[in-house]
Amino acid sequence: MSATLAPPPAVQSAPSVQPVQLHRRAPSPATQGPWSVEAIQALLDKPLMDLLFEAQTVHRQHWPAGDIELATLLSVKTGGCPENCGYCPQAAEFDTGVKAEKLMEVDEVVRAAQAAKDAGATRFCMGAAWRAPKDRDIEKVSALIGAVKGLGLQTCATLGMLESHQAQALKDAGLDYYNHNLDTAPEYYTDVVSTRAYQDRLDTLQNVRSAGISVCCGGIVGMGEAPVHRAGLIAQLANLQPYPESVPINSLVRVPGTPLADSDPIDPFDFVRVIAVARITMPKARVRLSAGRQQMGEAVQALCFMAGANSIFYGDKLLVTGNPDVDADVQLLAKLGLNGHRTTTTEAEHAHHHA
Ligand code: SF4
Repeated sequence: MSATLAPPPAVQSAPSVQPVQLHRRAPSPATQGPWSVEAIQALLDKPLMDLLFEAQTVHRQHWPAGDIELATLLSVKTGGCPENCGYCPQAAEFDTGVKAEKLMEVDEVVRAAQAAKDAGATRFCMGAAWRAPKDRDIEKVSALIGAVKGLGLQTCATLGMLESHQAQALKDAGLDYYNHNLDTAPEYYTDVVSTRAYQDRLDTLQNVRSAGISVCCGGIVGMGEAPVHRAGLIAQLANLQPYPESVPINSLVRVPGTPLADSDPIDPFDFVRVIAVARITMPKARVRLSAGRQQMGEAVQALCFMAGANSIFYGDKLLVTGNPDVDADVQLLAKLGLNGHRTTTTEAEHAHHHA
């Protein structure tokens, strides 16, 4: 069975999710790639209400309105990372107070995954602060994946660079998604990290794809990048063949001790614009409102949902930075009339094609 996500066909055909047809609007050219950076920049520069309208229109053509995926992220191996991503408190060379820990045991991870499931999460993501896992790490993580999958959760892992045989081993263990972010535009990448190259990221993404694992790939804004770099990031993501099934968009959480701790924060409306453009250019992707939600406030989060975000990180701690607690999230979704969807893997998954 394909591990990709799409709305159930019955919902897609419901009249209530296709209001645009009432206006006899031509199919949006917006959903066609390849995307030039200029075309994406032009979208980012639109009047905000026009952009939000377009994004919500595209959203309702492809997804049931009000459906929000709840994904829980657990750091299964924290800190001590040899990479130097300028935003990350887990890099060994930055003094952030994060202690290096060993890989968690299976029973601990299962407890956390069960708690996430009980709280309504449908996807469980396990993160390990490695540059690239060794084969024996892959064996241990495979055991975690098997145990989490056994609970009926979708599994996702983020472990650093992968070789093809490692991606295949994770697939065989039952991995549904692999997260590996492109972070920013290629032109800005060396300002953020110097221990690896953009092409390394693309190579790992290719290995993940070839193994038949769905791709979770996004980036971070608010790292001091220029608007054109935001457009460049979205162009990279949208032009992947096919584009990722999940696209996490992060707003930098400025952690003291990291090189990017003093970056100018992104204007909240510019963040909303990035979400909207991700939705327009990758209509069938789960666009995830990821790090930085805590700083955003409820009104900006609501605008992000309007812009087409339909997934959030939910519960526990977001790797090592804070995340709004579960009660606050449940209340926010209720206030906005959104549904954190609680379907099981089998109910939620349908093959979809990036035709
Ligand atoms: S983002 Fe990942 S690879 Fe980069 S320093 Fe942090 S844990 Fe390491």
